[in-house]
Amino acid sequence: MGIIDFHCDTLMRLYDLITTGNHKENLWQNEGHIDLKRLIESGNLAQFFACFLWFEGKPVKESFYQDALAMCELLKSEIAEHSEAAALAGNYREYLKNKENGKFSAFLTVEEGGILENKLERLNELAENGVRIITLTWNYENCLGFPNVGLKYQNRGLKPFGFEALERMDELGIVVDVSHLSDAGFEDVFRHGKRPFIATHSNARSVCMHERNLTDDMIRKLAEKGGVTGLNLGGAFLREDGKSTVEAMLRHIRHIMSVGGSEVICLGTDFDGVEDLLEIEGCHQMDKLVSAMEHNGFTGSEIEGICYRNAEKFMKNYWGE
Ligand SMILES: [Zn+2]
Repeated sequence: MGIIDFHCDTLMRLYDLITTGNHKENLWQNEGHIDLKRLIESGNLAQFFACFLWFEGKPVKESFYQDALAMCELLKSEIAEHSEAAALAGNYREYLKNKENGKFSAFLTVEEGGILENKLERLNELAENGVRIITLTWNYENCLGFPNVGLKYQNRGLKPFGFEALERMDELGIVVDVSHLSDAGFEDVFRHGKRPFIATHSNARSVCMHERNLTDDMIRKLAEKGGVTGLNLGGAFLREDGKSTVEAMLRHIRHIMSVGGSEVICLGTDFDGVEDLLEIEGCHQMDKLVSAMEHNGFTGSEIEGICYRNAEKFMKNYWGE
């Protein structure tokens, strides 16, 4: 089954390894959850690779923004080395062209809008560098707004620069990602954003109480705007005991579909960003989820929707044909 995955932290893992002198692992083959070899052998269609910036650490270069640009370059050079099987994509048309040529598509995203440091022009530069989704916040307050960490910032919405960035992202065709964003921030994106938006890696809060998961109201609003949410495989977001099980994944999928309709759910694994013991151990085992759906009453068309068609439809709606 073709898979489109809206979120992983593989690029950060590799960037960390390489900048600390470990050159044994690379994107083609490594010991993490995702590498190109396994993605391609499993027939995956597209992977969104996040440049994740961890503000608690120190930047490798002069700023986290420079680190993000370096991560973009890292992905591009690794993809270029395997151009027979993989290519970068920046919109639906490029994705489709790759698919028709039997090539796997790699997309670039940024997880931590704080790297903008109140500079709107950085959005243009990130767009020129191929970034197509930005997760507005990670777990820290930043120049755009507030995260959902516990629920202490729940009622703090976007900052003035957050609204400016939202407008510019809509113009540039960079999708706004509300995973990690505060509840009030979500509401601001819903009300003021002109285009569909995404929660790249969030589950359902009424199935598992984690503030990073979406409430039923949010799922409905996301669907109303033509957005999607990617199922996160991390145990903390699946079950309150923190176990990552396929059974729990099915419960979240069913719930999200029942609240927001069958087209609002897709995949956003969070591979290489979650440390729990995963029943699905990496990108090469997504067939475990597919066969569980097959054996638990999902229709063929629902399964295709969850795996890649809903994602394709979102890309087509957002970036055009
Ligand atoms: Zn995340």
